[in-house]
Amino acid sequence: MTQSEHSRGVCHRGAAFRPAPEGTWVSRRARALLLIASVLLVLAAGSCAEGTSMDPEAVRIPYSEFRVQLEAGNVARIVARGSEIRGELESPAQTIGGTNGALVDYRRFVTHRPPFEDPELYALLRRHNVELDVQQATDLSGAWTVLLNLLPILLLLAIGFALARSMRGQGHTLTDFGRSGAKLYRKEPATAVTFDDVAGAEGAKAELQEVIEFLRNPAKFRRLGATMPKGILLVGAPGTGKTLLARAVAGEAGVPFYSITGSDFMEMFVGVGASRVRDLFAEAKRTQPSIVFVDELDSIGRLRGAGIGGGHDEREQTLNQLLSELDGFERNEGVIVLAATNRPDILDPALLRPGRFDRRVTVDLPTTSQRVAILRVHSRNKPLAPDVDLEELARSTPGFSGADLENLLNEAALNAAREGKSAIDRSDVEDARDKVLMGLKREGMAIGDEEKQLLAYHEGGHALVAMRLPRADPIHKVTIVPRGRAMGITQQLPEGEIHVYPQDYMADRLAVLLAGRASETLVFGTRTSGAEADLREATMIAHRMVSSWGMGLDLGPVSFDTEGGSVFLGEDLGRPRPYSEETASLIDREVQRLLSESLERARTILEQDRPALVAIATALAEKEELTGEEVREIVERASQHVPAG
Ligand code: ADP
Ligand code: ZN
Ligand code: MG
Repeated sequence: MTQSEHSRGVCHRGAAFRPAPEGTWVSRRARALLLIASVLLVLAAGSCAEGTSMDPEAVRIPYSEFRVQLEAGNVARIVARGSEIRGELESPAQTIGGTNGALVDYRRFVTHRPPFEDPELYALLRRHNVELDVQQATDLSGAWTVLLNLLPILLLLAIGFALARSMRGQGHTLTDFGRSGAKLYRKEPATAVTFDDVAGAEGAKAELQEVIEFLRNPAKFRRLGATMPKGILLVGAPGTGKTLLARAVAGEAGVPFYSITGSDFMEMFVGVGASRVRDLFAEAKRTQPSIVFVDELDSIGRLRGAGIGGGHDEREQTLNQLLSELDGFERNEGVIVLAATNRPDILDPALLRPGRFDRRVTVDLPTTSQRVAILRVHSRNKPLAPDVDLEELARSTPGFSGADLENLLNEAALNAAREGKSAIDRSDVEDARDKVLMGLKREGMAIGDEEKQLLAYHEGGHALVAMRLPRADPIHKVTIVPRGRAMGITQQLPEGEIHVYPQDYMADRLAVLLAGRASETLVFGTRTSGAEADLREATMIAHRMVSSWGMGLDLGPVSFDTEGGSVFLGEDLGRPRPYSEETASLIDREVQRLLSESLERARTILEQDRPALVAIATALAEKEELTGEEVREIVERASQHVPAG
């Protein structure tokens, strides 16, 4: 396996969640009853608390740890029940457990669903093929779990009633909690997210500044007859801070923030989605100026009537409701709709028409200097040892999103805590970066000698060819310790930001990808299944070179691109290819030629440099992990011993 860039969406969120119930219809007596009821519940729950743990072997882990394992592809199956997630890992992992902070090995785990939504969860489960079982809590212990989980809400309600009462005098209108399932963020100077929490993203911030001005003082704009766009679409890769930005806009303007996540609708009963949307807008209008935020717009706003299995009733109803709400209010009303997506290409065109989401704000992956700024923001509350260099770290993390960087620092803090350090040092940060880049190490997997040799030569092949080719990205690390799903990884990191890929860069990339296979056949005269991922990626690249980028030999500067994403994402299945069978077979032949030539190229390099290949493979088999620096030294030494000619 080789891999060069990764950008995985990770997200830890913890925003001020503050349900604010309406107090007007509740009499004083009802409030008193509610308080008594919750006190009774506390007592009852306390006496039955033992009934809630069903699996004594399961280790309680924080949700963030669960996410790390999930990202690493290490979660085998989970059962969601009430607000609890139980599950099992493919291979054991370690966590900080117990009261003394010792390391605990665990395989079965239990974690709490966070009180906020995690929009990436379902996508991650699907991506890693994790078996998901949603159980209704019906038996007695389950019922207690539910009651226990309801408890804080009931208490909050009680507190809310009291608050609502005290605030009525000041003329605040609070909103019905639970009716829309949307969260209302009220202005709270102490905890609100502001633009200071969003590092980098200067362009997006500048574009949103106008909206903030409008929300602060709608009258000023109205007097001059100016109108605002109704809908603003934030577009960008996962984890680039779209949700964060939306929240910061509300914080900056000091207006209520209603948010709702598209993927939620998919989990609901038919009809609920549409009424949720209706309620949401009704409330937003009542408390205007306000912001409505629709996160993951693509999961409801996908092209209608497309994709495998035809339409999705719930989604279409919800989408229709959203469209009619967008049409139903005037531009000068004080409600601004923000939405976020990472797939603008699959959105229903009806959403993008004028008067709907007709303004786009692009949120890009951070550049090197922006990564430094993001790292600064997230290390504000983390003690760093003097040997940690955030600028260097930013340079070595191209393609990382804000969320990846946050995750990296969090992993580093976990590392340091595990070893009982008082500050996070360089080694913690480097381990964390490798973990985020390449997945969790899977130690304890027994690998035979023969297999080890095969792996060492396979990865050694990637490494040597990457070193020898001028345009290939520098090697960061080579390892035959299984990580995530891969048995071995040759990790390359581009030197700077790359935005367009020249042909010779792609050609070198193909040769590096196929060098694993070349090395196997050269040294052992055999082919292994370990090259599967390499072949898949190489084929994909070659196909795009030929069919999209006009880099084929005989085909000329033509793009045969069908703009196709995956059919699962709602693209038309039945759409015919816009080119003939003849062209299709030409493309196939061209792809094959590119791939065989690249394999040959890799093989020639390895043959000519065999002593270096042997040296790398031997070192790898012995040490299992080599840094880029070590590989460069080994190759240099091996080359000096070769007699000239
Ligand atoms: P998106 O909605 O684009 O997928 P999120 O807004 O959910 O991304 O980002 C997830 C987390 O990553 C945020 O809560 C924040 O902690 C961190 N993050 C992302 N981008 C930035 C940024 N530009 N500055 C600071 N933190 C960021
Ligand atoms: Zn490989
Ligand atoms: Mg988001």
